Amino acid sequence: MSKVHLLDHPLIQHKVTIMRDKNTKPMEFRNLLKEISMLMAYEITRDMPLIDKEVETPIAKGTFKTLENRSIAICPVLRAGLGMVDGLLAIYPNAKVGHIGMYRDPETLQPVDYYCKLPVDIEERMAIICEPMLATGVSANHAIEILKKAGCKNIKLMDLVGETEGVELIQKNHPDVDIFICAIDKELNEHAYIVPGLGDCGDRLFGTK
Ligand code: URA
Repeated sequence: MSKVHLLDHPLIQHKVTIMRDKNTKPMEFRNLLKEISMLMAYEITRDMPLIDKEVETPIAKGTFKTLENRSIAICPVLRAGLGMVDGLLAIYPNAKVGHIGMYRDPETLQPVDYYCKLPVDIEERMAIICEPMLATGVSANHAIEILKKAGCKNIKLMDLVGETEGVELIQKNHPDVDIFICAIDKELNEHAYIVPGLGDCGDRLFGTK
């Protein structure tokens, strides 16, 4: 079964609480999601492989550890996932970014694809799916399927706030995909929004409501 990594470091909890506040404005909301993404990056990459590199310090030559160049693909699910991209890129400037566009049909609540552009060498990379709100889990589940179809073998799911239903769906369908998440709330409402959650993450990032 996939592992759920609850990233409840005090710094992260503090920032998520500010994001939950309905009075927090889009600029601050965006900055907080960027900062949290940078903090999450540390845990998500904990098991990344390192290779040896010869380096000459001012004192002597030596062999040291470094990340492989072609190691990461950051894959935001549009549009809320975009809010996590800059924070991850600040930590891994060599990463490539693959965009996955889908929206939730308001009637069926099922994902509808409208865009997908992935790095050509996606199958050689560790893909980090950025999906801040893990509600029913249907969108994240679909994004994982898209990446697996593209040949990706190492996928991690990065969420800000979730609910048990979404977590369980991913664990059941994708036992090979670990989930990194900052908070798991208690329920979903009739519109599949997380309660208490933080509202519509895309709207709050981009000021569309
Ligand atoms: N998407 C959001 O933006 N918020 C939720 O609570 C659930 C899905």
